[in-house]
Amino acid sequence: MNCPKYITQPTVTSSTGQTLCARHHIPLVTVNGWKERPSATIYDSVYMQALVETCNPNFIFPWESLRRTARYCIPTKISYCPVCQKAVAANLASLNPTRSPSWWDQLRTGVHINKN
Ligand SMILES: [Zn+2]
Repeated sequence: MNCPKYITQPTVTSSTGQTLCARHHIPLVTVNGWKERPSATIYDSVYMQALVETCNPNFIFPWESLRRTARYCIPTKISYCPVCQKAVAANLASLNPTRSPSWWDQLRTGVHINKN
């Protein structure tokens, strides 16, 4: 698995012109969703979460949501890969989403976490 290539190319186009997830080769789903008001919030993904996001590039960004809330109040279109989103959400729901990836995780994915 070569995850860093997804940083520059998270999607590919099928022979019929559909946008596919570059990793899972399934069509992205586009739905009506919500996003935050523009703000200066900085989203910082660290360690394991950064690795999972790099390997699953078509997740729903932290400033977007499928549900309208006080925070996510501006209508927007969200395109995502359900498999990527599931993987990223599963890591976020784990006990320690910012744990250090093992050397094997880093070797297997090609994503090397610089802890300096
Ligand atoms: Zn995907």
